[in-house]
Amino acid sequence: MRIAGLAVAAVLLAVVAAQAESAEARPSFDPDAYMAHVRFLANDELGGRGTGSAGNDRAAEYIAEQLRLVGCQPGGDDGTFFQYFPTYETNQLDREAASFEIEGVEREWPVGTDWTPLPFTQPGPIEGPVAFAGYGIQTRDFGYNDYDDFDADGKVLLILRYEPQARDRRAEFGGEKPSTHAYFATKARRAARNGAAALLIVDPPSCPDDDGELYPFSATLAAKPYDLPMVQVSREVAETLLKRGGQPPLAELEQRITRTLKPASADLPGVSVRIDQAVRTGPVMARNVIGIMPGDGSTEEAIVVGGHYDHLGQLVTRDSQGSLVVHNGADDNASGTAGVLEIARVMSGGPPLHRKVVFIAFGAEEIGLLGSNYYASHPKVPLHYTRAMLNLDMIGHLYGRRLALSYEPNNKDMRELLRDASSASGIHYRRSLMFAGGSDHVSFAHSGCDIATVFACSGLHMQYHQPSDDWELIDVDGAIGIMKMMHALAVELATVEEVPRPEDE
Ligand SMILES: [Zn+2]
Repeated sequence: MRIAGLAVAAVLLAVVAAQAESAEARPSFDPDAYMAHVRFLANDELGGRGTGSAGNDRAAEYIAEQLRLVGCQPGGDDGTFFQYFPTYETNQLDREAASFEIEGVEREWPVGTDWTPLPFTQPGPIEGPVAFAGYGIQTRDFGYNDYDDFDADGKVLLILRYEPQARDRRAEFGGEKPSTHAYFATKARRAARNGAAALLIVDPPSCPDDDGELYPFSATLAAKPYDLPMVQVSREVAETLLKRGGQPPLAELEQRITRTLKPASADLPGVSVRIDQAVRTGPVMARNVIGIMPGDGSTEEAIVVGGHYDHLGQLVTRDSQGSLVVHNGADDNASGTAGVLEIARVMSGGPPLHRKVVFIAFGAEEIGLLGSNYYASHPKVPLHYTRAMLNLDMIGHLYGRRLALSYEPNNKDMRELLRDASSASGIHYRRSLMFAGGSDHVSFAHSGCDIATVFACSGLHMQYHQPSDDWELIDVDGAIGIMKMMHALAVELATVEEVPRPEDE
């Protein structure tokens, strides 16, 4: 008995060990790997991944790299992971073409370092004599007028940013809170009314917290130009202009105005500039990131697993006093994008499936489902071969609630597959119509190609579309459960003989 018992135990142990080994060989969902993706995408440095921003580009590059690492084939344009498409029209800066010249000065002034068009600049060339015009403020409030007894007509005005005594608590002007006279829009209006040709704006030497950094040229801010061309210049540019015009250094001029609250406007004789802002109207480009996991080769059919990676970017909010606030979009939709990446990783470690699986991180969802719309009209696997689409949008705030799923209710076989996937993952769900029309699966459901769609969302919350949608609030366990369920469903859909067809409701 004893010996036999030991033998049985040994066999059992061997079986358990073999199971453990094969379980180890197959990757499983990993909270740390998942959160690493979420934290990267929802990091302040990515600036909220607004369409047309550098942070959005970095997110796309990152996603492509992750898809490549798990062995997906590039599914985008020309053998890349990227599918490019045009979005809205706005003013854009063509850095290659931009140039800045101070007449008589032999040196390069690189755009982005020594000068930049402000995003709300009026496009067009700038050319003409330069004059110094203090802060470019004209107000009756404090008897302060930089245009008093000064002819601005046709001139390019060099002015200081902000207002006199900025950050001084006892200031006549706004002090720590800027008054409207400090706004770019106000300065543009006054300068235009006084006939100025353009504004060159420099940060005052006494402002310690700007580090000489120039304002970012953001496509989202460029849609509504102010009244005239506006360029921000470095202190070095400003000092060069003042010196050639026989004026004292900028710090001295600033102090003089601050002390006396008397304007110091003056022509700079013989000083002129020629600037090509290279700001032109055109479409902002965005991109979908597409990776394909091949099937077993016996069918052309495919299923799509996707989620959007863009978010709102940097916005001016009601309480931000005009400055930009990053909307990180950790739940919306770093959570779903990271889910797509994790499903791709786990699936690629499993056995080969019958159908292809197309993983897509969509761009430009927040401005009107543009990425998925574009894909639906320019698919990389023909839509009549595309049998199902699973969409993950906001899967990071489950916190024990039922998962909200939207799917075609008359699709009986799909309902069965969902029940199976639910019990395989331990995730409870309910059918929800709340966001049924509001995310990327709609582009597939409305394609007229009989594509079954399932949209997973953990639900709305206080941080939805707020700057507070941060990675610290992600319910990792909930998200892993949702991924397990969507993975189980995707594997089933990629394997079954016949993918359930949606029917009209
Ligand atoms: Zn979303």
